[in-house]
Amino acid sequence: MSINADPAELDKFGELAHRWWDRNGEFRPLHEINPLRLEHIDRIASLNGKMVLDVGCGGGILAEAMAARGAQVTGIDLSEKPLKVAQLHLLESGIKVDYRSIAVEDLAAERPASFDVVTCMEMLEHVPDPASVVKACAMLLKPGGHAFFATLNRNPKSYLFAIIGAEYVLRLLPRGTHDYARFIKPSELSADCRRAGLDTVNLIGMTYNPLTRVYALGPDTDVNYILAARKPGP
Ligand code: SAH
Repeated sequence: MSINADPAELDKFGELAHRWWDRNGEFRPLHEINPLRLEHIDRIASLNGKMVLDVGCGGGILAEAMAARGAQVTGIDLSEKPLKVAQLHLLESGIKVDYRSIAVEDLAAERPASFDVVTCMEMLEHVPDPASVVKACAMLLKPGGHAFFATLNRNPKSYLFAIIGAEYVLRLLPRGTHDYARFIKPSELSADCRRAGLDTVNLIGMTYNPLTRVYALGPDTDVNYILAARKPGP
């Protein structure tokens, strides 16, 4: 079976990996949105004491924060350098996360129904077959567990904001970070969830105000959004 990953995408993250924890570097947006998404996940799925999987964890910004909330976190990615950076950062933070280089589809075959919470943030728009990732995440969840997917919507506004605005005008992200054709509408993601046996339970937008430089969660899902889904069960 061929692996559901784009080597060029994995290399892109590998090249920048040493800058992952630089709050003023290329990954600054991830650092800035982290407290917002962490609160959101914790509110819906209450992380303390839960078994959590972070898919496409990169350098571990979210994985560490969830572990600090008392979750037992596994982080997986297919880019080696970000995983090394994530592993090294544990020495600095003193936090415990189990990092592994494995495809989510392979982990689903190995450990089905093992996690209370699966997060997959800013990753689906970098993979060839996002529906396959959603399906694997669903398999990895215990009944009653929650999955959180964050990605970019696909419409003229998201093209303008996420590519022209973020990569060219405001330079929040390196040019070429995102490919518009891979953006995913919430309706498409929700349909992928339904086909994987998950019920969509929450949809929230993530916005950036370039004047105040403040990120916020709210009803505007036009550009960035987080979809929460639940596997039926107790
Ligand atoms: N989820 C993290 C990092 C987002 S950056 C966060 O939000 O803080 C996107 C990450 O997805 C990178 O680390 C990249 O290596 C990873 N990625 C891309 N394609 C992948 C794939 N097919 N399988 C696993 N990880 C992948």
